[in-house]
Amino acid sequence: MKQTIAFPSGTVDYYFKSKVEELSRICSNRDLILLTDVTIAALYPGLFAGRKHIIIPSGEDAKTAESIKEITKKLLELDATRKSMIVGIGGGVITDITGFVASVYMRGIKFGFVPTTLLAMVDAAIGGKNGVNVGLHKNILGTINQPEFILYDVKFLDTLPTPEWSNGFAEIIKYSCIFDSELFSELEDYDLSFYKTSPEAVAELIATCAGWKNKTVAEDELETGIRKLLNFGHTSGHAIETIYHLPHGQAVAIGMVIACKLSSEINGFSTAGTERLTDLLERYSLPVKYHFSAPHIMEVLKMDKKRNNKNIDFILLSQIGEGYIQSLPLETIEQTLNTCM
Ligand code: ADP
Ligand code: ZN
Repeated sequence: MKQTIAFPSGTVDYYFKSKVEELSRICSNRDLILLTDVTIAALYPGLFAGRKHIIIPSGEDAKTAESIKEITKKLLELDATRKSMIVGIGGGVITDITGFVASVYMRGIKFGFVPTTLLAMVDAAIGGKNGVNVGLHKNILGTINQPEFILYDVKFLDTLPTPEWSNGFAEIIKYSCIFDSELFSELEDYDLSFYKTSPEAVAELIATCAGWKNKTVAEDELETGIRKLLNFGHTSGHAIETIYHLPHGQAVAIGMVIACKLSSEINGFSTAGTERLTDLLERYSLPVKYHFSAPHIMEVLKMDKKRNNKNIDFILLSQIGEGYIQSLPLETIEQTLNTCM
């Protein structure tokens, strides 16, 4: 099922409910170079045999400027030219690196993605943001540049470890909270083990979430307005992730609960709503609280680049399925954090 979406910076072909075997047809006559990590290369060797490819270590530690230099050397060895195309096959780390290296190699060559984690399928691969870390500075080097295509094959999820499934569900639950109360109810009707054994339902879920992200990014690619809604659960979530080294989805889950409690303070969001969210997160094996230090979190929030003066832009819920942006004073956030531990 092909769907073409136009963003300000470029047009992307989405192949939903597809098969990785379609890659040759989609990229026919292109000088293809596949970029992947050691985990995917070991699990799916047949994909890479006989094709030009580059394999990098797996995990966030590989998302560095140093990797870009190594990949560049390999691209040169493989005779990559301006006409070559890089296809990233992997999770969010691979799609981020692929987008970045393709954007700067010879001032930019074409690229495409085959996301292999649920998180990359519903979130990381979509939206054109890419980048690498320098030291502790996440995504400090990067561009906004859309891939030529994104090909979805849920078969990859057969090998995805359960904690990675939960990571993806944190983002899926996020979309349901800010945009889609029907999706929220659907998620309440099922659970992790249902989706793990129902590829068609997962493919449907992915298309729905990709649709929400595409709609948001198409309207506001540079994140000056509505795209900020996608940061629901991420403001305090990122701080928790940075300090306590929790997996992204777990930190976002805790961040979403904090955002609900702040919503109750600010706009009277119902405690029943917060309970529905915590029940749902638990259903997908995600944490709902953490014994964090509020002052420590505040320190990191104060350094957050989204801060203006004494306020931070927070994403709150007016009800389940409806998020909005609210600038909040630091004191209000600190008070609520103290009640959240
Ligand atoms: P993200 O969670 O942002 O998508 P990564 O790219 O770091 O981040 O992927 C998470 C981990 O899952 C990595 O160790 C990666 O090698 C591994 N991985 C990615 N896709 C699969 C898959 N389909 N099966 C098994 N492991 C996978
Ligand atoms: Zn996220």
